[in-house]
Amino acid sequence: MNNIFPWQNEIWTILTKNKSSIGHAILLKGKKGIGKLKFAKSLAKSLLCEDRLSENQACGSCSGCRWFEQAGHPDFYLVEPEALSESSGASKDKPSSAKLKKKPSKQISVAQIRALNDVVNMSSHRNGYKIVIINPAEAMNVAAANALLKNLEEPPPQTLFILVTHRPHHILATIHSRCRQIAMPVPDFNLAIDWLERQDVEGAQDSLAAVGYAPLAALEYNNGDYRLEHENFINNISVLNGLNPILLAEELQKSDLPTTISWLQKWCYDLMSCRTTGKIRYHLSMQARIEELVPKIDPLKLAGYLRNLIDMQRLAHHTLNPRLFLEEAFISYAMLMAPARSNQRG
Ligand SMILES: [Zn+2]
Repeated sequence: MNNIFPWQNEIWTILTKNKSSIGHAILLKGKKGIGKLKFAKSLAKSLLCEDRLSENQACGSCSGCRWFEQAGHPDFYLVEPEALSESSGASKDKPSSAKLKKKPSKQISVAQIRALNDVVNMSSHRNGYKIVIINPAEAMNVAAANALLKNLEEPPPQTLFILVTHRPHHILATIHSRCRQIAMPVPDFNLAIDWLERQDVEGAQDSLAAVGYAPLAALEYNNGDYRLEHENFINNISVLNGLNPILLAEELQKSDLPTTISWLQKWCYDLMSCRTTGKIRYHLSMQARIEELVPKIDPLKLAGYLRNLIDMQRLAHHTLNPRLFLEEAFISYAMLMAPARSNQRG
C-alpha cells in the first residue's frame, strides 16, 4: 500500500502526523529525479481518502481513492505545463484552446492558474480537502505566479496547494514566504543502489553516478534509448581523434539541448575534478580514460569552458538555431582538448 519511496518515510510521517497542521501551502523542493511528484500525489491521495489506513496511507478502495486512481477526483487538480501533460497523457486539465497546432508550452500560464480560482472557491465535492498540485512550480510565468499569490494570501478554506520544484531559486520570494518549505530527501548511495537493484537495473552504480545520484533519473536512464544516446555522446567526445564538431552538431541538432549541454557539463566537471582532487563523480567506468586525458589539458581553459557551459545551459532553453549553438559548444571543446589530441592512441 506504501506509494512513497523508502527514503521518504520520515518526511511522510512528519507531514501526515496531524492532518490539521499541514497548512494551506507546501513547497516540496529538491533535486530532479528523487520522486517529489509521486510523493505529492501520494500525499494528495491520502488526504482525499475517506478511509485512511495506519501511517495515514490511502486505503485504495474507498470512492475517493478509486476516483483518484482514475485521475478523475473532482477535488484534485494537477497543474502542469502543456508540454508535460501531453507527454504523460494526462490531458484532462488542459484548457480547451490547446488544440491549436502550436509547440506545447513549457510554461504554466496565467489562464491555467485563474481557472483554479473558480474551483478552489467552491466548497469541495466530497466534503473534504481540495488539493492543487503545481508541477513544476518554476514553470509558472510571472503573471501566473502573481495570480497564484492571491490564493496563497487569502487561502480558501480546506484547500491545500502543493508546489513541486527542483529550481526553487526560480520561484518568486513572495511565493516562498507563503509556503511551508519542505526539503525533499535524496537517498544515500546504498539505499539508492538497493532500490535500483530491486527495479532490475543493471549496472546500478554506473547509472546512478551518470545522472548525478538521483535514483528515478537513473531508472529512466536505463529505459529506452537514453542510455545508449548518452554512451554514444561520451564516446564521441572522449575519443578525440575522431571528434568532428560540425558533424556532431548536425547529428544532435534535434536532441534536447539542455540535456546535451548537461552531459557536456558533467563530462567537463569530471575532467576538472580529476585534475584537482583525483576523484570523478559521474563517469565511473571512464576513470582510466579521464586520467589519461587530464594532464594534457590546460586547467585555466577548462575552468573557463565550464563557466561558459553554465551560460550555454541557460541559453539552451531558447536558442533559435540549435545546430549553430552546438557547433560553437563543440568547436570550443575541441580547441580546449587539442593538446590531448595529438599524441593519443585514439
Ligand atoms: Zn481510500
